[in-house]
Amino acid sequence: MEKTHTTSVRIRILGIISLFFFISGCTVDENSVYLKIRNHADLVKVINTHEHQHQPEEYGDYTFRFYHLIAASYLAADVSSAGANGYDWKMIDSLSLDELWKIYGKALNYTRTSSYYSQFVKGFKQLYSFNDLYFTKSNIEVLSKQIEENYKNYNEWFDKAFHRAGYELMFIDQYWKPFNTEIDERYFALAFNINALVSASSRRPEKGSEPGGFYKEASRDGFTINNLDDYLKFCDHLLRKNIDKKAVCLKNSQAYSRTLFYEDVPYEEARALFDKPSSQRTSEEAKKIEDFMFHWIIQKSVEYSLPVQIHTGYLAGNGNILDNGQPIKLNNLFLKYPKAKFCLFHGGFPWTGEYAALGKMFPNVFLDLVWLPQISREEAVNALEVMLDCVPYNKFFWGGDCGLIEESVGSVSFAKDVVSEVLAKRIKRGLLTEDAALEIVNRIFRENAVEVFDLEKRLGKEF
Ligand SMILES: [Zn+2]
Repeated sequence: MEKTHTTSVRIRILGIISLFFFISGCTVDENSVYLKIRNHADLVKVINTHEHQHQPEEYGDYTFRFYHLIAASYLAADVSSAGANGYDWKMIDSLSLDELWKIYGKALNYTRTSSYYSQFVKGFKQLYSFNDLYFTKSNIEVLSKQIEENYKNYNEWFDKAFHRAGYELMFIDQYWKPFNTEIDERYFALAFNINALVSASSRRPEKGSEPGGFYKEASRDGFTINNLDDYLKFCDHLLRKNIDKKAVCLKNSQAYSRTLFYEDVPYEEARALFDKPSSQRTSEEAKKIEDFMFHWIIQKSVEYSLPVQIHTGYLAGNGNILDNGQPIKLNNLFLKYPKAKFCLFHGGFPWTGEYAALGKMFPNVFLDLVWLPQISREEAVNALEVMLDCVPYNKFFWGGDCGLIEESVGSVSFAKDVVSEVLAKRIKRGLLTEDAALEIVNRIFRENAVEVFDLEKRLGKEF
């Protein structure tokens, strides 16, 4: 009885010891594979396929500190969602950090689990040696002083941060000034946002009214628009102007203001509808002209060999019609234009399955993970798993989608974590070799973009 008991205790102890070595052995092994991939990702010269990088003064005449950066980031929407009032830039500029913590601190703390928050922290970890998990009333004081110092010479700071993040090139979508073609080519390549070309088609100014926006731009460039043909001529002029400035793609982010279903409308019908005064058109008729315009733009994208990036899924901010961006609404376009290249954005979240299925079904549909890790880290992990299951990996890209450099640097680090985690897990499950994993990292963060956007030819330099 005594001996049996001792033996069973020994067996149990031996079992526990071997289990410990088994578990720790696995962990060490898995961690080392993860770290190998993650370290490799840091060596890749990243082609970031989507950014909205601003100059700080484009937000207004402010002294940039911690809360200004939050106001310019995605995190501001989560803080509002937690119950805080929206960010008033003038107020932020005039109050002390203590006063602002009283207003926003509680709501900010409720967002500590969100990916917007973690990705924002990551930017400060990379650039400001910030090693805490969370922002607190006291640790943001140091950060805020450093931010103020860096923003005294933003261009110098941007250059330093850009290179520290391992970027080689960012595609810049200037939705807030879509007609500007003057960019700093040391960092950026133009992604021409075509929203205005579509939406202005149904908003022609009535006789006697002052032309604004798109029509003002047309008269500045010497174009008079009396009919649809005139309108198309000016749109073609804008496309060529962007191509002259080495634009690498077109961008549609219309899901923020309308459905992504673009009906196939014949030219004659669109021309007749265009002739009607804007105020006498029904909303269905206005939609038809816009639908015609996007079809026309896709045909031009084939003629000019420009891939078309399309916002699908989740919409930034605090209130919109989510259904507008459902990726499957674009299905008719993928069928009709097999020679066009479509790049679907944001994992189509929350329709990531649809997004992956479209990438699988159509050789001309590419999948960009842009912004998805920031919306939801876990959804990005799941989406990439499904993408690797369904879709060849020469069709994936990554982009940051941020307004200022801190957030962008956080987002690329966050995305590298996600990609490395998924690949390390696959290696552990025996589904992937390390060599293939490193190739996939190169493809997602660089090589696919060089190939699909024809960067060497278009930009006239070697990548
Ligand atoms: Zn964007």
